[in-house]
Amino acid sequence: MKMHIRSILSSYLTRKPISKSPIFRSLGQNHFFTSSTSRSNQVITCKAAVCWGAGEAVKVEEIQVEPPKSSEVRVKMLYASICHTDILYCSGFPLPLFPRVPGHEGVGMVESVGENVIALKEGDLVIPTYLGECGECENCRSGKTNLCLEHPLTLNGLMLDGTSRMSIRGQRLYHLFSCSTWAGYMVVNANYLVKIDSRIALSEASFLSCGFSTGYGAAWKEAKVEKGSSVAVLGLGAVGLGVLEGARNQGAARIIGIDKNERKREMGKTFGMTDFINPSKSNKPISELVHELTG
Ligand SMILES: [Zn+2]
Ligand SMILES: [Zn+2]
Repeated sequence: MKMHIRSILSSYLTRKPISKSPIFRSLGQNHFFTSSTSRSNQVITCKAAVCWGAGEAVKVEEIQVEPPKSSEVRVKMLYASICHTDILYCSGFPLPLFPRVPGHEGVGMVESVGENVIALKEGDLVIPTYLGECGECENCRSGKTNLCLEHPLTLNGLMLDGTSRMSIRGQRLYHLFSCSTWAGYMVVNANYLVKIDSRIALSEASFLSCGFSTGYGAAWKEAKVEKGSSVAVLGLGAVGLGVLEGARNQGAARIIGIDKNERKREMGKTFGMTDFINPSKSNKPISELVHELTG
């Protein structure tokens, strides 16, 4: 399982463009392959979680999902997970865009593709990413950031053309970032999708969309954890477990996981944790407990 996550992360971080929009001309080097594609002009009715207003509980409703436009893909969702950002957005942050279908972590199977999508086909397993990556813009080529200028983080709840692919009883539904995974089907621009290894446990692959990759990248790209160093990680959710794995991959010698949830004592070891601190079992401050371990 961990090996699969590593191989997926490495393909995730070196992925090639997967649509033939004008900026993607070098598809000869694409590691994805072209094959027969499925077109669909049908509107699909399916269930989705809908948030109608700031702070309101989501309701399961029937919604309509339009077919994908030229550079888009419609995905049948198989798994989704909850990131705290979903909860923030349901509370109206950073913009109160409602009604909205939350969710930006998930795994699904391609149901149909637009006419300009050449590297994904019906049946492919994919995860959404809320940052696209063209590989050619100034930021993508910099090696310092993946905030792609061509396929940026979108906060307006709409597709790149300023419209939505979802509606409920004729009313427009807002997306969350590039997608909306808490639905039976979602439409995503192909440049915000990554094909995954079908051998991975799909329920766990969902976390690669945001939480796990965020933590992994934080240790690798942001903190630039050094070989032989000591690392303390506060909180071992999807992000924190990703930090553990990122620190291990960077060669950290001592990786201390800190969490009040005792179940993380075993789970953390799977991701490279060498020591565990449960602060609720001590009267000392966390910093002192870390100091005792590291000197
Ligand atoms: Zn997230
Ligand atoms: Zn780019």
